[in-house]
Amino acid sequence: MSQKLILVLNCGSSSLKGAVLNNDNGDVLLSCLGEKLGLPDAYITFKVNGEKQKVELKEQPNHTGAVGALLDELKKLGLDSQIAAIGHRVVSGGEKYSESMLVTDEVIQAIEACIPLAPLHNPANLLGIRAAQDIFKGLPNVVVFDTAFHQSMPAHAYTYAIPRKYYRELGLRRYGMHGTSYRYVADEAARFLGKDKNNLKLVIAHLGNGASIAAVRNGKSMDTSMGLTPLEGLVMGTRSGDIDPSVFSFLANNAGLNIQQITDILNKESGLLGVSELSNDCRTIEEEALKGHEGAVLALEMFSYRLAKYVAAMGVAAGGIDAVVFTGGIGENSDIIRAKVLNYCEFLGLKVDEERNIAARFGKDGVITTDDSRVISVVIPTNEELMIANDTARLTGL
Ligand code: AMP
Repeated sequence: MSQKLILVLNCGSSSLKGAVLNNDNGDVLLSCLGEKLGLPDAYITFKVNGEKQKVELKEQPNHTGAVGALLDELKKLGLDSQIAAIGHRVVSGGEKYSESMLVTDEVIQAIEACIPLAPLHNPANLLGIRAAQDIFKGLPNVVVFDTAFHQSMPAHAYTYAIPRKYYRELGLRRYGMHGTSYRYVADEAARFLGKDKNNLKLVIAHLGNGASIAAVRNGKSMDTSMGLTPLEGLVMGTRSGDIDPSVFSFLANNAGLNIQQITDILNKESGLLGVSELSNDCRTIEEEALKGHEGAVLALEMFSYRLAKYVAAMGVAAGGIDAVVFTGGIGENSDIIRAKVLNYCEFLGLKVDEERNIAARFGKDGVITTDDSRVISVVIPTNEELMIANDTARLTGL
């Protein structure tokens, strides 16, 4: 039977994640991951019905080659003619976009203009858009911005307390990330709780290798922990999150490091990895912490403590808390971290229910607080691809 399918693309500088979704029921018919794009040994791996298959991109080892291989795979499956539109994740839309957009020349120029705000991501996102336009000629493309959902933050939440000319002249302010996930999870949480999203105060923690938290009041983002870049806020897999900015001059003066080196240390060698001196992977940290590894114990506690402090802070931004929501790889799977965070926040009226917390471990949604808790906590699995597909279908009139 013929169906209308949406291709969702999420491009990094050397990678491409793709998924083909049936927007009506959310079914994923194919997913793929292109890696080492730009290098001679680039390849793409397809996953269809649980079966994986790797294709070397010898002739065109780049984003266009990866999208070309994806079209070939769709032809083999007889799905190519059913692709109706393409949705792209774009990291920064700056202050210009507070919602998803149909791709036009003007939109492309605006994404280019935002490159200083996302120098690693926006150029890669543009490569994906151009590759899709080249290979899937004539199909509409839609861009879904990570920053868009947070454009509702008030000025007192997004402004840094530095001379305002840097905001005026350079756009230096807090933008936040993971907006697509927050929008999806906020809607799902309202549905799950049987509440009207326009009358709901949520604190949502998106905890993956990159992690952030947001205050969502009546369906709108009021504040979030990431800032100009994803470095601000929570302790993450390899990012430090909040630090005293004087760490830069201290390390420059005392360790002879330059700005790029310090930036790399804070982004790539810090967080769970830096503190545990073991791994950025939460599963490894938990396993080793249970065996008593001192660095792993400290990393786990710091991750949970910082997060708990932010839960309380986001309660200020949301004007109260009806529910604390956990999502992302760690949020959906780590009962250990969820329990620690809720224990720190018991004074807010959150009481963890151990059995429910463990039962919600394997990507399942569910309430994890006791019935007599004043504030509820729930696990809601995120689905950014589906949100991008929904926006793409809506904006292309499918
Ligand atoms: P994401 O970036 O959303 O894919 O999340 C990746 C993070 O989720 C990694 O730190 C993983 O270690 C963590 N994660 C995945 N499964 C589990 C699990 N069962 N227990 C704890 N952490 C997990």
